[in-house]
Amino acid sequence: MKEGLATRCVHAGEPQDASGSPHAPLYTTTTFKFPSTAALLDVVEGRKPGALYTRYGLNPTIRALEEKLAAIEGAEAALAFASGMAAESALFLTHGRKGIVCLGDAYGGTLELLSAQLPTLGIPSHFLLGNELDALPALLKRGVGLVFFETPTNPALELFDIAAISDLAHAHGALVAVDNTFASPVNQNPLALGADFAVHSATKYLGGHSDLTAGALMGGKDLVMPVWGWRKNLGQTIAPEIAAQLARSLRTLPIRVERQNATAMKIAEAMQAHPKIARVLYPGLPDFPGHDLARRQMKGYGGMLTIEVQGGGAAATRVADALRLFALAPSLGGVESLVTQPCTTTHHGLTPEERARRGISDAMLRLSVGLEDAGDLIADLRQALG
Ligand code: PLP
Repeated sequence: MKEGLATRCVHAGEPQDASGSPHAPLYTTTTFKFPSTAALLDVVEGRKPGALYTRYGLNPTIRALEEKLAAIEGAEAALAFASGMAAESALFLTHGRKGIVCLGDAYGGTLELLSAQLPTLGIPSHFLLGNELDALPALLKRGVGLVFFETPTNPALELFDIAAISDLAHAHGALVAVDNTFASPVNQNPLALGADFAVHSATKYLGGHSDLTAGALMGGKDLVMPVWGWRKNLGQTIAPEIAAQLARSLRTLPIRVERQNATAMKIAEAMQAHPKIARVLYPGLPDFPGHDLARRQMKGYGGMLTIEVQGGGAAATRVADALRLFALAPSLGGVESLVTQPCTTTHHGLTPEERARRGISDAMLRLSVGLEDAGDLIADLRQALG
């Protein structure tokens, strides 16, 4: 029987050696020696697994982390990267060369890579917002090879139906990659819902302490292993020191995210009842437009929510500046709560018209809920709104 997520987070990818250490040791070395040329060739030519060279990812600390990452997403294989963008770019270069369609809103770096950089290499990209999905079958018929999306999205927490989109894409021979950063594997498992890849900025919930930058790609072995060569030669492999730090964080992933889910729900309810809040966007609220889908495809509603302050952008800025416990900073998923006003950070580069088309108002504040006491966080929001 497959062990539960918390057990996998603690025990997967912890090879036992003669030292008795309960955790995989940290090998900082860049290279590994062999007793003979024959033994070296066995590894180089792929006949035997083994340590070889750290940039290749053939380092026991990195391999141990990847075993844990694969187990956590229920995947056959995982690759660990130096950042979330490294994971995405290696995925796009390997499997997106026939064209990529990005659904909904996505992280700014992803949008820039897809719209401005990959097309210069001859890789076409297409963008469909949530209300334009009727156009997806036609794009797939034209041979687009990879469908990519975040769910929930940033900052509107829009949800996309992973199972339905995967069925449609597969019927046209396309692959599906879900950026599972916002939900984390505790709340959502794209592979179990039919997607081919889960990709993460491990900088966020997986790392969980705002003290490391990393990325991860999980999926079937046949699809993930071709990405390995791109990672190797683009030099995108995670450093072993960071791999050990990330493995340490993963051991506490469920307990952190479950608390963040619970606190986010309490904050969402408190904000919904607040007279100075125009709207609360949180998948856990029964009147949230994507709530039914969230109930079907998510196990928890996440630690991210967006509030819309009455009085517009200037009022939202005043609230952001008045918060004391919520730090004004981009990023998310750490133990400390953060606030960001999307029009000044993640979506600053877009024109006001484009932000409006995407349903992003200047009055929005995106909250990343940390591990502080829920009562203190709600009190902080109330004093800032006051
Ligand atoms: N995906 C999402 C949803 C993100 O929010 C981010 C970064 O904010 C990335 C990917 C990129 O990750 P990284 O900063 O680790 O490269």
